[in-house]
Amino acid sequence: MGCPACGNSAMVAKECDETLTYGGQSLTLHGMRGDFCTACGEGTWDPLSYRRYTEAQASLIRTVKGDVSADIRRIRKSLNLTQTELAGIFGVGKVAFSRYERGETRPPAPLVKLLRLVERHPELLKEMAEV
Ligand SMILES: [Zn+2]
Repeated sequence: MGCPACGNSAMVAKECDETLTYGGQSLTLHGMRGDFCTACGEGTWDPLSYRRYTEAQASLIRTVKGDVSADIRRIRKSLNLTQTELAGIFGVGKVAFSRYERGETRPPAPLVKLLRLVERHPELLKEMAEV
């Protein structure tokens, strides 16, 4: 099969990492496979990699635009905290998380980032409560 972009017939199979970026967030997929053009670098993913790519892209878009309120609730539950407890740790008003989770108020971007960080490193919660 030739290159879909330039018609060059030399396509080589390659395994590589592919980083997707969207709205300031990025996500790297490791071990992606496909055939790449030796002339222009254009390539086509194999079916499995292609599916991973489209799923990752969709989830990235969901993460950036998507339902931040559901995300906040999910993270809070995973941390096993009430809205009031989490508000105390983050130093925001008691009802702030209730508003974020009901979608009444859009949470500030730094807060969302911090929350995602804490989700990945729950041990930071203790330190956050101290600073
Ligand atoms: Zn090409």
